Amino acid sequence: MSDIVHLNNLTVTYERHPAVHHISGGFAAGSLTAIAGPNGAGKSTLLKAIVGELRPAEGSIDRGVLTRNDFGYLPQAADIVRRFPISVADTVMLGVWKNAGAFGRFSREDGERAREALSIVGLSGFENRHIGALSAGQFQRVLFARLLLQDARVILLDEPFTAIDQRTTRDLLDLVLQWNQQGRTVIAVLHDFEQVRSYFPETLLIARELVGWGKTQDIMSPANLIKARAMAERWDEEAETCLPEEQHDEDGLAKREPAE
Ligand code: ADP
Ligand code: MG
Repeated sequence: MSDIVHLNNLTVTYERHPAVHHISGGFAAGSLTAIAGPNGAGKSTLLKAIVGELRPAEGSIDRGVLTRNDFGYLPQAADIVRRFPISVADTVMLGVWKNAGAFGRFSREDGERAREALSIVGLSGFENRHIGALSAGQFQRVLFARLLLQDARVILLDEPFTAIDQRTTRDLLDLVLQWNQQGRTVIAVLHDFEQVRSYFPETLLIARELVGWGKTQDIMSPANLIKARAMAERWDEEAETCLPEEQHDEDGLAKREPAE
């Protein structure tokens, strides 16, 4: 099997409420995949499960020989705190934390590599700037510089271009395509369908459950997009994860305690 990451009937829940439900399929090694779906579809939850931040409630994720360090993960902007009093260079070097010595010191070489990564993302001279003093686009460039340093085999990006200026989006999208050309597996949550169709050969469309996973031109069909939206409209926020087979009635509906 040439899948680098494989999902087996994956369900991820928050206090028993499923956010990702019965997803099966694989990301081929070296593939470039967009994850699309309505708000609340479980896209961020899925990425967190793949990198190991959330555990499956049911099913499993097969990562083969990969370890945590093989995954480079860029969370959604809302999840990143920018108030730490930390410089641009230190933020980038956190990407090589795993290589830092026993006392967590950065070497001169780490500093050099951070400077090089910052120059690739167009931020030469910003090394000592406080990260709180950057624009959204500049901060996203810093986080991409950090990913560059991490040198991960699998890169997961959660809405990397949301609220980012056009020029930065273009520059960073170029980097994403380069990473893929280098043979890395890239998975990105995106809401810009234009971008998905133009640059991402594979798409995973979810609405908690899988709507489709395969070639972008097949998956991003009007019918599938309508289906995803219809599924989102039917979500019951209080629904619990489905019960095992034996607890179902003959008509297939889960047994419920009668209301008091
Ligand atoms: P998406 O990224 O597709 O917008 P999310 O994965 O963020 O969707 O969320 C999927 C569902 O899980 C939503 O209903 C959301 O409210 C819920 N959810 C997300 N994070 C948490 C959390 N930390 N605790 C409880 N529920 C959550
Ligand atoms: Mg999200």
